[in-house]
Amino acid sequence: MTDTRLQDMRAQVDVINLQILELLSKRATLTSDIGKVQAELGTTFYDPQREAFMLEQLERNNKGPFSNETIKALFREIFRASLALEEKEARAKILVQRKTPDEKTIIRMPDGYEIGNGDFTMISGPCAVESFEQMDTTAAALAERGVRILRGMAYKPRTSPYDFQGMGEPGLQIARQVANKYNMYITSEIMDLSQIPMMSDYVDIFWVGARNMYNSFLLKALGHVRQPVILKRGMSATLEEFLYAAEYIVSSGNPNVILIERGIRTFEKWTRNTLDIGGVAVLMLESHLPIIVDVSHSAGRRDIAIPMAKAAKACGADGLMVEVHPNPPVAMSDAKQQLYIHQFHELMDALGDVRKEPVAT
Ligand code: PEP
Ligand code: MN
Repeated sequence: MTDTRLQDMRAQVDVINLQILELLSKRATLTSDIGKVQAELGTTFYDPQREAFMLEQLERNNKGPFSNETIKALFREIFRASLALEEKEARAKILVQRKTPDEKTIIRMPDGYEIGNGDFTMISGPCAVESFEQMDTTAAALAERGVRILRGMAYKPRTSPYDFQGMGEPGLQIARQVANKYNMYITSEIMDLSQIPMMSDYVDIFWVGARNMYNSFLLKALGHVRQPVILKRGMSATLEEFLYAAEYIVSSGNPNVILIERGIRTFEKWTRNTLDIGGVAVLMLESHLPIIVDVSHSAGRRDIAIPMAKAAKACGADGLMVEVHPNPPVAMSDAKQQLYIHQFHELMDALGDVRKEPVAT
């Protein structure tokens, strides 16, 4: 074989490569258009029957020299690439998905207080409202350190139906009274959409707990409230499921959603859950919504709150959620993880300044 023959054949291969490339691109455009129609119709992208049909057709028409197995392997790769492209395009349409690196949702409360503006937002208070005195003592300490968002939990999702279930509406009344006294905002967990009208009179920020993250009917209903919504990650929810839950609220009309990572269930026993700090970093890349780290439910113990809080701040999270109680050992829920008031002060000292640097004018 002479050099010119070799060069000639290589040139033909180059041309074929470009033809294959053109056909692949044409195919990708077509499958992406199919994906758009499927999205409109609400059907899924991946259709195993259609894939099986295409592979069978290729097998029937294959005249060699490649074996049927090789041809099928090559085409499966093409199918996979098309599917990945369709999924990427679908993700770009998701409202909670960050579109540009500097896109950020800043939540503005009625008096101008902001969440997600670069300050490190503190959300704190006892696990549950137990009495006026308990809320008042706690809120006084929190207010002293500039905390503006108070946990006023009146409905508790407990593992056992025989455990304390929360004070109900009287608990909300106490929380409201105390919050007004210290110029704070109340956030409180909602269990069911039937509670929206009643709770709207008391709470400044609705709170959806981990157990309700999958309650799409509740999430859709919270798309219609005027208050922002704090949404906790389900205890075994993937980040994708978490963002889709937020999408339910945002796509129903409420753009003011705050995400909370609260630890996920793993094999580890020495912490109640495992704080997914990597997940927080991923959420910061994937979504423009503010993200808060719950160092109480993710740990289940108070002795590691400070290093976990430091990790949350260092990671760039928008803030921290920590439970504080005047006398944690006698608390009616989560007694092991709530901080003593002196520990809360230590935590605040350890975090240093939680406000953003003033913008130079
Ligand atoms: C809470 O923060 O009050 C709570 C019940 O936590 P979670 O929903 O994360 O279990
Ligand atoms: Mn709790």
